[in-house]
Amino acid sequence: MPESEVRIMSDNWKHRSESMRCKTCIWFCPKESLDGVTHLGRCRRHAPTMNGYPVVFVNDWCGDHKLNENNFIEPNE
Ligand code: SF4
Repeated sequence: MPESEVRIMSDNWKHRSESMRCKTCIWFCPKESLDGVTHLGRCRRHAPTMNGYPVVFVNDWCGDHKLNENNFIEPNE
């Protein structure tokens, strides 16, 4: 393909994880903080280790995400 025909393709997977954040996941157990805002919690997807359940931030994500329809936080809130 000639160099003049090379087009920059947009990334179809860009921002794909936006809907897979821990804050909307059924496995996420939020931890209350002193300022009343949830910043982190624990992931209960798998059995705990000797260190307990893994600590995750609300904006972390992983491939095991499962939407918790009862705890869904609207993106504009
Ligand atoms: S780490 Fe994955 S499974 Fe655990 S709460 Fe976050 S998105 Fe859900």
